[in-house]
Amino acid sequence: MSAENKKILVLASGNKNKIREIGEMLPDYEVKGYKDMGLDMEIEENGSTFYENALIKARAVCEALGLPALADDSGLCVDALGGAPGVFSARYAGDGNDAHNNALLLKNMEGIKNRDAKFVSALVMYFPDGRIVSATGETFGRILYECKGDNGFGYDPLFFSNDLQKSLGEASAREKNTVSHRYRALCALREKLS
Ligand code: IMP
Repeated sequence: MSAENKKILVLASGNKNKIREIGEMLPDYEVKGYKDMGLDMEIEENGSTFYENALIKARAVCEALGLPALADDSGLCVDALGGAPGVFSARYAGDGNDAHNNALLLKNMEGIKNRDAKFVSALVMYFPDGRIVSATGETFGRILYECKGDNGFGYDPLFFSNDLQKSLGEASAREKNTVSHRYRALCALREKLS
């Protein structure tokens, strides 16, 4: 489908990687971050769950633009760390830097044998009439002892996917998009919207 025939889907996110992945998974839409729609604001994510944060972001952008907005709040939950970094995944090491987050995760996992973990994505679609449609997706794996692969973003190089039997950093975008938490949440959301 040519770009001019595509419907625009506004994503309540400034994360270029999320915008890219959701765009790859929804080829019929032109997926645009809210800043690319000319909205200049920062959204404070002060919820205590992925769902609450996704709702905060989707509502803020929908109300500001008067258009339906989709938000993804996601993160990594490690069993042996009691579900951390969880909703703090992006700012685990304090500065929003992926390499620093990965280094801190490895440090906190030193000496821990149970490496089981999952990625979670909560998606919320917020409509101008106040309607909310939401879905979540999960993908399971374990935390490696060192980074493997340069693909993806965030914790991907440290996350060995049970489905793919390799790290998400070693997986192609196409492979990741068939098993990821975001893909699974998107499938569940589409089901509810249709
Ligand atoms: P959010 O923007 O507050 O939802 O934070 C998401 C954070 O969770 C990202 O900055 C990453 O650290 C992590 N994360 C979420 N999804 C993924 C993924 O697909 N791969 C790797 N890390 C992810």
